Amino acid sequence: MARKKIIAGNWKMNMTPSEAVALVETLKPLVQNDDVDVVFGVPAIDIVPVVEACKGTNIAVAAENMYFEESGAYTGEISPKMLVDAGVKYVILGHSERRDYFKETDADVNKKVLKAIEHGITPIMCCGESLEQREQGITMDFIRQQVKIGLQNVTADQAKKMVIAYEPIWAIGTGKTATSEQAEEVCRGIRQCIAEIYDDATAAEIRIQYGGSVNAGNAAELFAMEDIDGGLVGGASLKPDFGKIVCYNK
Ligand code: PEP
Repeated sequence: MARKKIIAGNWKMNMTPSEAVALVETLKPLVQNDDVDVVFGVPAIDIVPVVEACKGTNIAVAAENMYFEESGAYTGEISPKMLVDAGVKYVILGHSERRDYFKETDADVNKKVLKAIEHGITPIMCCGESLEQREQGITMDFIRQQVKIGLQNVTADQAKKMVIAYEPIWAIGTGKTATSEQAEEVCRGIRQCIAEIYDDATAAEIRIQYGGSVNAGNAAELFAMEDIDGGLVGGASLKPDFGKIVCYNK
């Protein structure tokens, strides 16, 4: 079974609610591609207006984070129930910026992954090595650890429907893209890791994105690789160029 590509934007901490709606209106006609699942990952305050603006289109909305409790005294956090009620279908979890600036651990990411699945939200679970780890030759050891802990107690059937985003930290927001061979090598390694944790059928079904300075010029080459099932796109997802990335095969 061929895996459908999934191309998601990560807007990060950009776009006020009114700017967000204007951006959706600009991008809507540009991101028409039936071969691809299209996702806009938007700041929490933009979720409600963006879901409204995306009604009747092919665009699904992702949150950029989520807490692992149902409700209660967690000032400033957002629960899975809130996301579901607002119409969110995906949640980006364990982005390197959250791990770095907000000290999220693999165990935190695992709790969030389990909670999202429990509520029917598809996790886009991020992993990726630093430049130092790459230079030390421990890229795959580090990522295998992130993936194994992140997926603890996730069943094979649940894992099959998930998305993993491989994002080398040194390529995020730097304009320095991994070569398609480097990206493929790690995405293949992640798929092997999934086969070891579960089985070949799960590994064949789970979708693995590449993220890190994807742009209109490099998307087609990256997405042509056997184990790369689309991309998680930061900077370029805020521009009309995102349409070219989504329509990489047209
Ligand atoms: C990201 O934030 O997930 C990302 C990959 O950013 P950029 O595309 O800007 O490198």
